Amino acid sequence: MTRSSPRKRPLVSYKEEHGKPVTKPAVARESLGSFNSAAAKPVAKPAPKRKAEGDDAAELRPTAAASQQKKRKATKVKDEDAMPLADRTAVSSLKKAMYIGAHVSAAGGVNNSVTNAVHIGANAFALFLKSQRKWDNPPLTSEAKELFMSGCSHHDYKAAEHALPHGSYLVNLAQSDPVKAAQAYNAFVDDLARCEQLGIKLYNFHPGSTLGDSRDAAIGRIAAQLNKSHKATSSVVTVLENMAGSGNVIGSTWEDLRDIIALVDDKSRVGVCIDTCHAFAAGHDLRTPEAFKQTLNEFKEIVGIKYLKAFHLNDSKAPFASNRDLHANIGTGFLGLRAFHSVMNEGSFCGMPMVLETPIDKKDDKGKAIEDKQVWADEIKLLESLIGMDADSEKFAAVERQLQARGAAERQRIQDQVDKKGAKTASKKQAGGKKSKKTAVAEDESD
Ligand SMILES: [Zn+2]
Ligand SMILES: [Zn+2]
Repeated sequence: MTRSSPRKRPLVSYKEEHGKPVTKPAVARESLGSFNSAAAKPVAKPAPKRKAEGDDAAELRPTAAASQQKKRKATKVKDEDAMPLADRTAVSSLKKAMYIGAHVSAAGGVNNSVTNAVHIGANAFALFLKSQRKWDNPPLTSEAKELFMSGCSHHDYKAAEHALPHGSYLVNLAQSDPVKAAQAYNAFVDDLARCEQLGIKLYNFHPGSTLGDSRDAAIGRIAAQLNKSHKATSSVVTVLENMAGSGNVIGSTWEDLRDIIALVDDKSRVGVCIDTCHAFAAGHDLRTPEAFKQTLNEFKEIVGIKYLKAFHLNDSKAPFASNRDLHANIGTGFLGLRAFHSVMNEGSFCGMPMVLETPIDKKDDKGKAIEDKQVWADEIKLLESLIGMDADSEKFAAVERQLQARGAAERQRIQDQVDKKGAKTASKKQAGGKKSKKTAVAEDESD
């Protein structure tokens, strides 16, 4: 078995928050080697090799004017970082033009998202345009803007098509309180303006929460905010992400998305991003080819395929229709590899950005949390290899089994939680008691 990513020395993972490289133990992975390499050919015009990238990295850093020593040190870090964990696959070598990547870090400036995407062999990427946990953020610098655009052009990324920023978790466009609604709108439209400055066309965000108000009123407010934001900007397409949750969450049903879109004046400025984990957890099955087809047909009938603009590719640690938002690594969750085979071979999805939001957190030898970006590099190759593959082959079945076994314990753990909650709710209903307020959502994600 040959590995798809030739790597001869220990990996270096870049820990964004502290800017310190962390040397990872060279863990022997369960190799998906021959499987991975099936469809993957390196890009026809490979990005310049290490030396050139190191030079570029020095150029790209805003701190380039700092002391020589600092410069050398940083160059070294960047140089290691620039050594790709996997080569990018030429999309033209795939039987279907699928642009697969991950939500990468933009710590230190949006321009860093480009090199982080190259690092994992991504042909598309998501990023945050500013800090997602605070309201006040410094404006986009002209330097970061220029470096982002030159980085995209240098590495052959079409930002307009394959960069998919993710909106702030703080923003709720359904907010009814006038002060809070204005704050949400300002943060939202500021992101849209950043997209336009960066040449980005698609902007993904969570529709919002009713906060207990009526669904129709909340949807009306979301659409009104979108209309206002479209008038304040010129080209960016606001892309609604489907959600996993129930209750006050808007966007778990195709009808929610349809009803928002219906109230948007300029239909060319609105679209949908399907998060596979969210869809599954919300009760849209994708596991078998038949279920996938049915879900896609429902989407086409209710929302309309012309609004589909992007994907978040995540497996689900939580079972079908559980309304839990727990992303799992591809093939290890309740969705399973067959679902992703269906997605990767659906011709109407060609050309869209497809972004992994799967977990990459690991513990190192000392129990310290580290990020293992090799996981994304491998998952990109895995997904690419599914294009045109015979899903009835023994090769497919072997990888499917291997990945399911890897996720078995975690699936069981979450299944137990869901069962426990279901039993509690049932017994309370039987006793005529109050609805359970406590839900096991503490560890749920919101990507
Ligand atoms: Zn998502
Ligand atoms: Zn999201």
